[in-house]
Amino acid sequence: MQCPNDGVEFHPVRSQNHYGQLIVLDQCPVCGGHRHDSLQTIFT
Ligand SMILES: [Zn+2]
Repeated sequence: MQCPNDGVEFHPVRSQNHYGQLIVLDQCPVCGGHRHDSLQTIFT
């Protein structure tokens, strides 16, 4: 998956959602944009 603005690969970044669940965001390392439609919830 590439950033539509920069044409570089997104990098997975771990974060937490509003419920304190660990999630992975695909973030562009250049512009910092996120792909919100690729949110994944990790149940550990
Ligand atoms: Zn970008």
